Amino acid sequence: MKTIGDLGDLRGKRVLVRSDLNVPLDGTTITDDGRIRASAPTIRMLAEMGARVIVCAHLGRPKGEPDPQYSLAPVAKRLGEVLGAPVTFAEDTVGPSARSAVEHLKEGGVLLLENLRFNPGETAKTDEGRAEFAQALASLADVFVSDGFGVVHREQASVYDVARLLPHATGGLVEAEVNVLRRLTRDAQRPYAVVLGGAKVSDKLGVIGNLLGTADRLLVGGGMVFTFLAAKGLEVGKSLLEADQVDTVKGYLERADKEGVEIVLPADIVVADDFSAEAAHDVVAVDAIPADRIGLDIGPESSRLFAEKLSDCRTVFWNGPMGAFEMAPFAAGTKALAQALADVTRDGALTVVGGGDSAAAVRQLGFADTDFGHISTGGGASLEYLEGKELPGLTVLDGGDDREGDA
Ligand code: ADP
Ligand code: MG
Repeated sequence: MKTIGDLGDLRGKRVLVRSDLNVPLDGTTITDDGRIRASAPTIRMLAEMGARVIVCAHLGRPKGEPDPQYSLAPVAKRLGEVLGAPVTFAEDTVGPSARSAVEHLKEGGVLLLENLRFNPGETAKTDEGRAEFAQALASLADVFVSDGFGVVHREQASVYDVARLLPHATGGLVEAEVNVLRRLTRDAQRPYAVVLGGAKVSDKLGVIGNLLGTADRLLVGGGMVFTFLAAKGLEVGKSLLEADQVDTVKGYLERADKEGVEIVLPADIVVADDFSAEAAHDVVAVDAIPADRIGLDIGPESSRLFAEKLSDCRTVFWNGPMGAFEMAPFAAGTKALAQALADVTRDGALTVVGGGDSAAAVRQLGFADTDFGHISTGGGASLEYLEGKELPGLTVLDGGDDREGDA
């Protein structure tokens, strides 16, 4: 893997950096700046080397056209505060504003381009669909640094195609993330537990098949758990449920049983009348979820059970909150899980928390980054890495510069 040091003297060079600055926003207020802070060291290092640093990133899921609610403007401001240096903001990604800002960028200066996903070419499904946008991005710079770990599992213009068009290197954040995750895939100390929760259920269910081959224990909470409960024939009320995945999950349960992987499910659930912080709510046993209620957190008995199942682990990977933690009445399960991780970390276990919302949750609930072995900026990316999948954004870096083979 080529690192920034391998790029030679960068003084005066235009360096395009793909960062992951996809932070949670409440209006224009950044509610967790973890990804900005994690991205800053690479940007600062390049600026200190005298490079002209052009940062590109996405925010949220705009539909391939400008949409003010997804503007990176608040992120540019916060990035400047974190760096302790001004960050210029371009009002488009590869248009006149971007080009003029690049022209005026001084050695050691930092520029942030507007949201990559305001351009349909960024996420287009085919090479041809992304080519023009990737070319336009590449034309802004002399070299490319890939530092957005949260997106390396995406075959997108700013992650994949641009690396084929410019001399490139892996940024410090991607390097650090990969180094930690490699320890989990190569020589995880046992017992090794994986904890899954959150709401992107269909995205994450596929991961489980591969994790069954590596982890000793799989603890399931969050929105994901109801598909498991349904697979066991239990009533899940109006909770999040992927009905078409129930059979897949049944298969996982059987395989886990055969292969000696322990699947730990909650003993109780916090159920509410509706998806709201003000909703009336109670704790019920996992096999007594009323048909008209929504499960929004794991219950206290489950928290104790999960903590116990983690207490002797030497390696723990956690992705996905245990409940709808953004609402105080449903945050206790996530808080208890974070505490259990912090406890085993203190006892010497390697713990990794991955995922945008999971990282935001542990910080919001009062934990420090140092309470865990590593807080990964990537949820989907770290899961796919653990699964042993090939990540296009990493492969393209290892593969070197395509143009080297050209006549
Ligand atoms: P991450 O970003 O860490 O990968 P996800 O994006 O998959 O995690 O899921 C985070 C979201 O899951 C949070 O917004 C949280 O409110 C939601 N969530 C957790 N448990 C439930 C549940 N039981 N029902 C609905 N949403 C849930
Ligand atoms: Mg998320």
